[in-house]
Amino acid sequence: MTQSPHAPQARPVHAPMNQFAVQDGELIVGGMKLSQLAARVGRTPFFAYDRGLLRARVAELRAALPNGKDGKDGKDGIKLHYAMKANPMPALVGLMAGLVDGIDVASAGELKIALDAGADPAEVSFAGPGKRDAELHQAVAARVLVNVESMRELPVLAAASRELGLPARVAVRVNPDFELKGSGMRMGGGPKQFGVDVEIVPEMLARIAQAGSDRLSFEGFHLYSGSQNLRAESICEAQRKSYELALRLASESNLTIRFLNLGGGFGIPYFPGDARLDLAPIGENLAMLRQRARDEMPQASFVIELGRYFVGEAGIYVTRIVDRKVSRGQVFLVADGGLHHHLAASGNFGQVVRKNYPVTIGNRVGQAATETASLVGPLCTPLDILADRMELPVSEVGDLAVVFQSGAYGASSSPQNFLGHPNCVEVLV
Ligand SMILES: *Cc1c(COP(=O)(O)O)cnc(C)c1O
Repeated sequence: MTQSPHAPQARPVHAPMNQFAVQDGELIVGGMKLSQLAARVGRTPFFAYDRGLLRARVAELRAALPNGKDGKDGKDGIKLHYAMKANPMPALVGLMAGLVDGIDVASAGELKIALDAGADPAEVSFAGPGKRDAELHQAVAARVLVNVESMRELPVLAAASRELGLPARVAVRVNPDFELKGSGMRMGGGPKQFGVDVEIVPEMLARIAQAGSDRLSFEGFHLYSGSQNLRAESICEAQRKSYELALRLASESNLTIRFLNLGGGFGIPYFPGDARLDLAPIGENLAMLRQRARDEMPQASFVIELGRYFVGEAGIYVTRIVDRKVSRGQVFLVADGGLHHHLAASGNFGQVVRKNYPVTIGNRVGQAATETASLVGPLCTPLDILADRMELPVSEVGDLAVVFQSGAYGASSSPQNFLGHPNCVEVLV
């Protein structure tokens, strides 16, 4: 039957979570049935990150973006950096370090994990609005690139350079005069604690030049305008404007750009109505900018830095149902995990209006019998919700509830000690 053009608009639904295979009604994660994986982990709740999916995501991105001669050379292509705040689990960072071209860190703690993971310091960059003097000193000693976000950092870096006898590698993180449209979280444009307002960048560049390149070695610019964007056109526009801004700043100050970080912000579908990002226009746009750069900034390597796009879809959060209650007709599945491990899925990590992440019962996928139920955690707060009145397979105590899209901003960005329940386990499989 063909659909009438006057049919009422279908309710928005979640994008299909088909990155995991299903066998006998069970999700396959890391090549294993979910129940077997849960037995292997030995307890719930846990986060599981699938190596195969992480590898596939990096490969997919490389295929969509312009490549250099060796497949990843930033002079012709686009270097991929992993922004490890999305998921700092050491084993995962170790895997990513071998797949991508560099790691972006935002604290000395993350720097340690990146270096332990074997990341090449030449391809590690350090951004963040409140870098402490000791952290800047460590960064100079490690010979990583510092994305400078304040005038205050310059004399601290120059002093560290003198003391250590090493040049401080610097790029200027610019707070541009435009915003990334359609971004879930804006981090550039307008008044921001991040980066240096474009109006005062020329003064900063003059101070860097004054210090001399054996103290402050200028490499280029970092522009990061926001996170969780599903609109390819907005991302392309931000990248084009970032390129043009960097070009203008460099030519005005007579500096050579060797490094240009065009940001990222690639989103993944979390909520009903969200569709997966279309990489093709972004690849074309970057190829066009790469082409322009041959004449306009021939020394420049291009970098994009992504966190959630690399890891978000490869991870699930698994929690066991410990009670099933009906309150005035509404079904509550009470699980052993909740917002203390997965603040983002509970809606309390910056959502304005709470929406459900994609959730299923991982040992009953595709089961015919379904019901409307709410999945809640064990905490004594009404905020501890993982799914609010969703259509789910009818389940029992002991079943494994799964929150998809949980590879980024999960365990490390949740208040694990809140209410004194056990911490979660994380496995890379
Ligand atoms: C948070 C952050 C990222 C990663 O954002 P995602 O949405 O996870 O891709 C990248 N760069 C900077 C500077 C950030 O602060």
